[in-house]
Amino acid sequence: ANKARGNKVAAGFALGLEGAEMGKVVTRFPPEPSGYLHIGHAKAAMLNQYFAQMYQGKLILRFDDTNPSKEKSEFEETILEDLELLDIRADVITHTSDYFDQLYELAVKLIESGKAYTDDTEREQMQHERREGIASAHRNDSVEDNLKHFAEMKTGSTEGLRWCLRAKISVDDPNKSLRDPVIYRCNPVPHHRTGDKWKIYPIYDFACPVVDSLEGVTHALRTNEYHDRNPQYWWMIDALGMRKVRIWDFSRLNFIYTLLSKRKLHEFVNNGQVRGWDDPRFPTVRGIRRRGMSVEALRQFMLLQGPSQSIVSLEWDTIWSLNKKVIDPIAPRHWAILEENKVLVTIKGAPSEVEVKTLPKHKKNPDVGEKKTVYSSTILVDQEDAKSFEDQEEITLMDWGNAIVRSKSVDASGTITAIEMDLHLEGDFKKTKKKITWLSQSTSSHPLIPVTLLDYDYLITKKKLEENDDVKDFITPVTEFRQAGLADANVEDLKKGDYLQFERKGYYIFDGRNKEDGKLEFILIPDGKAANLASKA
Ligand code: ATP
Ligand code: MG
Ligand code: MG
Repeated sequence: ANKARGNKVAAGFALGLEGAEMGKVVTRFPPEPSGYLHIGHAKAAMLNQYFAQMYQGKLILRFDDTNPSKEKSEFEETILEDLELLDIRADVITHTSDYFDQLYELAVKLIESGKAYTDDTEREQMQHERREGIASAHRNDSVEDNLKHFAEMKTGSTEGLRWCLRAKISVDDPNKSLRDPVIYRCNPVPHHRTGDKWKIYPIYDFACPVVDSLEGVTHALRTNEYHDRNPQYWWMIDALGMRKVRIWDFSRLNFIYTLLSKRKLHEFVNNGQVRGWDDPRFPTVRGIRRRGMSVEALRQFMLLQGPSQSIVSLEWDTIWSLNKKVIDPIAPRHWAILEENKVLVTIKGAPSEVEVKTLPKHKKNPDVGEKKTVYSSTILVDQEDAKSFEDQEEITLMDWGNAIVRSKSVDASGTITAIEMDLHLEGDFKKTKKKITWLSQSTSSHPLIPVTLLDYDYLITKKKLEENDDVKDFITPVTEFRQAGLADANVEDLKKGDYLQFERKGYYIFDGRNKEDGKLEFILIPDGKAANLASKA
């Protein structure tokens, strides 16, 4: 039915909406203000934004606030910040609660037209009846009785609390979502916007189609776990004689080793397993952005996923390698050496005075800017490189030239403690096997910068948690790895959130200065190759 979905173009898939008219499309992203946005929400938000822009239409951000027991206004602010982090700005911001009066009147209208009835059947009994296709004892109550009970519900009285309102659709339809679903329920908890004005709240299945229709939504994007509920959605709109809305299903996003449920994420925060909602180990929008995920890579990934209807747990590798392609052309190149791995090298033939040269931060992209590289007769190299040097081997010191290894001092454990090299600038760098990074030893006039390199592991040890699994049994014991290092002084130009590459180490994002030890912190950005510190450890 969805022809537009299959059209492949060079850039990936050309997504389209059926019956979309340029300038007239209205989409909406309806988060519940009960937590922070995660990468699954990002998919929904980005697809909605994409279609609104593609058809020069409108994107509505609707806070779906029909459950006062879970919602808070502080989450509205944080969701707006999360959307900002995704470069998403809605054209209109609304609340389902803006429509509580209309929803109430429409519910009354349904009762009056015999299309809804109040019910006080016990929860278990009602579930049993719905499962077995048995009519409720109240299904044929009179309109007067139904109106009376609904009015009682509205007051939140003890009597009212016993009742709920159900749409009168079917007793035994094979599609169980059509078996007289509950559409209004009492809740005496005050609402963060409407206070104690209401004691009854519309259920999502009723509020969503009604408000979509009222707000002029043309295309409602829904995750396909609601697919069976589409006929129910259309029933509500038909029963009220309202403007029709098209539904576009997409699949729910899941990743391996990852929990995407606000409730479970709340638990991780509350148990101190992460430092907060923006922890780089977290699949929240804040967490992944802090770990170095670019908006561009997210967008590309979500559009590639767009037409798929399959609900599988995706690997993280795909999205991280898309991300690498986005940041590689813009990430400045810097050098760093781990404290525990540094080896002092004396360079014979080096200038006796320290020299400083200006070099591009990115060899292929001059727009990234320039950096200063310090040259002197004592430099630091990496232990791993040092170990690999053969006697009299000619190697290349990157951004400098060739040098010949003349001697290595080794201690009892086999660790290289010092090296001497002769500079050999006439040598051809094309002929050497090893091109290594290095840093001039720190001096008071040209200091190196103490840094911490961070890497993270998945929070859970199981690829896909099953319904009955207890998260507590699958917590990875250690998920943060910190290493002390030294970096070239140019890293001081970086701003928090900047991308960079520590050459021959990987891509990093600058996470700011640690308040306790004063060191600059850099988080390793996964590059889709699964060769991070965590997996090496
Ligand atoms: P959670 O279970 O994580 O709390 P939710 O669906 O209850 O998610 P909402 O705030 O109601 O959270 O979601 C807002 C929108 O985001 C909905 O349209 C929902 O379908 C979509 N959404 C939520 N999780 C995902 C996901 N994993 N993949 C794709 N879309 C999602
Ligand atoms: Mg929801
Ligand atoms: Mg949920």
